[in-house]
Amino acid sequence: MVDLTTSIGSLYGVGPKIAAKLAKLGLLTVFDLLYYYPRRYEDFSHPRTISQLEVGYEQIIQGRIVTIENELSVKQKMKLTRALVADGTGQLGIVWFNQPFLVRVLKPGTTWLMAGKVERGYQGEITMVAPTLEREGVIIPLYGETVGLTSKMIRKLLSELRHLVSMLPDWLPEPIRKEQQLVALGEALRMIHFPEAINELGTAKKRLAFDELLLLMLKILETKKELNQAHSLVCKIQIEEIKKIIASLPFQLTEGQRLAIWEIVQDLARSTPMNRLLEGDVGSGKTVVGAIAVYDVAKSGYRSVWMAPTEILANQHYQTTQRFLQPFGVKVGLLTASTSKKVVEQLDSFDLVVGTQALIQNKVRFSKLGLVIIDEQHRFGVNQRGYLLKNQKETPHFLAMTATPIPRTLALTLYGDLDISRLAMVPTGRKPIVTRFVDPANRTEAYKFIGSQIESGRQVFVVCPIITATGDLAEGDQLQLTLEERKSVTSEYEKLKTKVFPNLRIGLLHGRLPAKEKLAVINTFREGNVDLLVSTSVIEVGIDIPNASVMMIEGAERFGLAQLHQFRGRIGRGEHQSYCFVFTDSTEQTVFERLAAFADTTDGFEIAELDLQLRGPGQLAGLAQSGLTELKLAKISDIALIRRVKQVAQRLVEEGLANYPLLQGRVNDERRTEHLA
Ligand code: ADP
Ligand code: MG
Repeated sequence: MVDLTTSIGSLYGVGPKIAAKLAKLGLLTVFDLLYYYPRRYEDFSHPRTISQLEVGYEQIIQGRIVTIENELSVKQKMKLTRALVADGTGQLGIVWFNQPFLVRVLKPGTTWLMAGKVERGYQGEITMVAPTLEREGVIIPLYGETVGLTSKMIRKLLSELRHLVSMLPDWLPEPIRKEQQLVALGEALRMIHFPEAINELGTAKKRLAFDELLLLMLKILETKKELNQAHSLVCKIQIEEIKKIIASLPFQLTEGQRLAIWEIVQDLARSTPMNRLLEGDVGSGKTVVGAIAVYDVAKSGYRSVWMAPTEILANQHYQTTQRFLQPFGVKVGLLTASTSKKVVEQLDSFDLVVGTQALIQNKVRFSKLGLVIIDEQHRFGVNQRGYLLKNQKETPHFLAMTATPIPRTLALTLYGDLDISRLAMVPTGRKPIVTRFVDPANRTEAYKFIGSQIESGRQVFVVCPIITATGDLAEGDQLQLTLEERKSVTSEYEKLKTKVFPNLRIGLLHGRLPAKEKLAVINTFREGNVDLLVSTSVIEVGIDIPNASVMMIEGAERFGLAQLHQFRGRIGRGEHQSYCFVFTDSTEQTVFERLAAFADTTDGFEIAELDLQLRGPGQLAGLAQSGLTELKLAKISDIALIRRVKQVAQRLVEEGLANYPLLQGRVNDERRTEHLA
């Protein structure tokens, strides 16, 4: 019996070769195949007449076969099938290659729909080349293809599953389906794969988009419910101690920081785990908030773990938290890929362990784990968070920090399970960063300005994109760069060092350097022993060097707006007036507009909204790992729908999913694959 879990490879007529190709598209089971929606449709229901045909385009005609015969093209060793077709307005020649059996199918006198490109032959006659054929005026779905696997093959596979589709049990409770005016699941899938009329597509998409959002919401709500039932270590609010440490800081906390700390320590004092997102634009001062939370936990006798996406950032947090907390008796340890075994064995002697993903590898175990902090949370997958939270006797409190300002509409769906603290303002005394979009003609002047900044004691970042033969890459920390790829940043470094600023101390940083060297470079810069640091996007997140006052971005068109905003966030973190210079060699109008928009605002929220409009949610930094990019049909811009679905989801969870076994099964399946991914 074929059902949704049947692997495609075991379907009749699917050999290992085809199965492998389908797997390449991510299609392993019948379920996957049914949810592999067409990219677009070819509408055979509105053919043209032969007299209307235009050369050079794909078109559809309906015609009667007048003559048809095979011939051998001796030169190309190919079997040609040539036909003459008529429709009352004219006659048209048709040719197919290597399909000699067609002469048996396309009998003279029979009428067919044919879709194919129309070309002009040697003698000026027009010919339709290798058209696809249909008997009736149907709508043909076209699927995303891969080498050796055509849309037609996918259609054929699906057509053999058609009976299964119509019999699919619907996991959406009937009353809700009625109330929301949606068609049944089997009907929707039938319509999307085998539409009988164009207007069926809208009906199908409405149902399937609703499903996508509902499942996402239910997953979120179920996670939240589980967390609410879990137990965490209770950390009594250490008011006096916290006051003391705040008084010791070299600055006054902002209102936002005070409020966030208060919200956090209240959560920490509960026996249900905190699940909070600390959101604040670059430079808003999230680290000190996290550090005080750690302090509160340590004073209660429990341990904290703080995870950062890169080794550079983990090192920085290690240094910062040590500076803040060590004087108050908090022991801080560092765990990264380069950390020695000895430290790993002594983890239990630290109150706080700062680290990279190494924290969740090699079966590292922590006892008395009270708090997990994940910095730059958008850089991590859901599962890593799950790992740290789950493999413990008590569920630790959880604090995520991000500078990716998530548009409100998205926050509503994506972080429906998180409480949010927001640092709305950057610390006072900072001067707004001046952003200039520099014309290439003014480059020399920009260098002069940079020289004068360095002379007055400041430091400078120069960011270069990675340019490869195959296109541009956003550099991940562990990315392996080839020599060729490294050239752009190294040659920029050489140029600045030998030609532009021969008297200055210039540093070079890129992802390919060994971890130790990377750290050495950034620390030398941090200590003020390098004036200008040429870097790839490895410095994108989190780096905090308040003395740096200039950020120069080369090839700016290659970066997304959110990424540019992150670069700019590396400066303006101290009391010095800071400057961001944006360069591009592009002459495209759209690039100018985008970069001008960036220069116009320093508001991270505005930039995130712009990025969302320009590039869609998949590109929005930080959403790559979220459930949102799995949405195929639902539009996250459809706030009304999102609200409606959220209400339905809440109602269902209140009633208890156990009342709807099919729905519950579906949600559990989704959550299981999430944990396996
Ligand atoms: P982010 O929110 O981007 O992680 P950080 O926590 O790294 O920002 O803080 C940026 C800089 O601002 C750091 O050098 C930090 O010491 C400083 N800082 C944090 N809070 C304040 C404050 N209230 N007043 C002045 N400077 C602050
Ligand atoms: Mg930070």
